[in-house]
Amino acid sequence: TGGRVPFIAGNWKMNLDHLQAIAFVQKLAWSLKDATHDYSATEVVVFPPFTDLRSVQTLISADKLELGFGAQDVSEHESGAYTGEISAAFLKALETPYVIVGHSERRTLHHETDEQLAAKVAAAVKHGIVPVICVGETAEDLEKHGPSAVPVAQLRAALAQAADAKDIVVAYEPVWAIGSGQAATPEQAEQVAAQLRIVLSEVLGEDVAQATRVLYGGSVKAANIAGFMRQPNVDGALVGGASLDIAEFSGIAQFL
Ligand code: PEP
Repeated sequence: TGGRVPFIAGNWKMNLDHLQAIAFVQKLAWSLKDATHDYSATEVVVFPPFTDLRSVQTLISADKLELGFGAQDVSEHESGAYTGEISAAFLKALETPYVIVGHSERRTLHHETDEQLAAKVAAAVKHGIVPVICVGETAEDLEKHGPSAVPVAQLRAALAQAADAKDIVVAYEPVWAIGSGQAATPEQAEQVAAQLRIVLSEVLGEDVAQATRVLYGGSVKAANIAGFMRQPNVDGALVGGASLDIAEFSGIAQFL
């Protein structure tokens, strides 16, 4: 991981209401505390639904839990007539450190475009929220263009309005691996992560590129995390399904 602090992220998607979230976060924090792993050297971050953020933020800060949190999406607009949207300013007011931008479910089900995602990244960066930028190819892209072309193009596009960004996280999530039980191999993840780091270097400069965590996501489990964490350009994981199981997620966070 090149000296970068490992980043283990749990994307809850549309699961757990705010009461369930409070119980879950407490249990997760206990589970991590009981582990022998040194968490001062790993960031573990949960991404609950919007309605949970206030409760999760209060719990983490009041109990000084060794957990981070973030939102699953953000509006590209600052404020105004955008019914149902949540602005980066609102997330900042809740002291939200991270926000996922461009998850494949947003790209596919909500038709989010590269231009829109670039504006979301810029909005997050403007408010000092670290965007976790998701990129990844579909099975069809993989067949047509090989493994790196689409993720590389998506990352370039996402950074189009954020050339001055210093603090971002990138998640390489091949769409064919998400929720399919069929993870990429550690070598496949490393190959794309290395290409993404080249893009980071070209767009944001070598220092920022070397400091940026690049995650792998797609059917990560406790049983397969170690192989990913051994790759020089893979600095952590974005976990969907397995992040809702405390034993499984704390196993991933120990990446033994
Ligand atoms: C995701 O949705 O970001 C993800 C990686 O899901 P899963 O771990 O369930 O494949």
